[in-house]
Amino acid sequence: MTAVLAPAKLNLALHVTGRRPDGYHLLDSLVAFTRFGDRVTIAPSDENRFEITGPYAEGLPLDDSNLVLRALNTMRAEFGRADPVHIALEKNLPVASGVGGGSSDAAAVLHGLARLWDLSPDDNRLARIGLGLGADVPMCLAARPLLARGIGEEITPVDGFPSLGIVLVNPGVALSTAAVFAALASRDSEPLPTLPGRLDFHTLCNWLETTRNDLEAPARALEPAIGETLAALRKAGAHFVRMSGSGATCFGLFESGNLAKRAASEIRKRRPGWFVAATRNTISGDMPA
Ligand code: ATP
Repeated sequence: MTAVLAPAKLNLALHVTGRRPDGYHLLDSLVAFTRFGDRVTIAPSDENRFEITGPYAEGLPLDDSNLVLRALNTMRAEFGRADPVHIALEKNLPVASGVGGGSSDAAAVLHGLARLWDLSPDDNRLARIGLGLGADVPMCLAARPLLARGIGEEITPVDGFPSLGIVLVNPGVALSTAAVFAALASRDSEPLPTLPGRLDFHTLCNWLETTRNDLEAPARALEPAIGETLAALRKAGAHFVRMSGSGATCFGLFESGNLAKRAASEIRKRRPGWFVAATRNTISGDMPA
């Protein structure tokens, strides 16, 4: 049996720099991954089974449209394996919430099967299969601080990244990525400024202040609760706040994991219905098991 964390993806900064003729948007994004996420467990079995548990299991498909089974089927076809497996997905990340849960689940299945089938985690077939499953899957396979360009698939690792206290908050609304992109006024942002050579908590936050998430304004127009979410994070003492991806999940950055935990319990007390999680980021493939 193998258990793999499927971390939340955070777009710390996201500039929409253009649009390809096929309609895909071109991005320039600084991405980090949290030590909190879904959990994918895979075990050899005498029959194929797939189950979803956890707080956000409801409404997710159990058929081949689930990214977990798409990842499994693609791996089986590529490696010529038909042996039955039992896959359990513990869904801790809100769905359609801008933290890439589905892509991260798919990447976790690739990692888990690679472990089970004795493949090297660096086998470049995994990266190719990942890209075929979705533009965000390759970055989720890396699950470390990185710059993502193109449609998200051109990845440059960022070294020397600081450890951040992070609070994730979602006000309980799902936002369609397509609807948010459709509401975007312009698609010609400048690329991200160059990252400072030495990154610590404060230089990173200062740099982030010079950047945006271009999807935040259109998402807020569609869903005003995002404004309240950002205000709650600020009130709880976050040094820097922003929405991730196409929303509605927002994040606050704190100088330590303990400060993040304290802020999270404060927000939970005020907003018992919201999703709130305190966590830290992965630094360089140091994902918890
Ligand atoms: P992104 O930031 O990449 O836009 P997201 O967090 O907004 O991602 P997801 O939670 O990945 O969005 O889900 C988007 C859609 O994918 C949902 O409508 C959902 O029904 C479908 N889906 C298929 N498989 C999964 C999965 N394992 N987990 C979550 N969603 C899935």
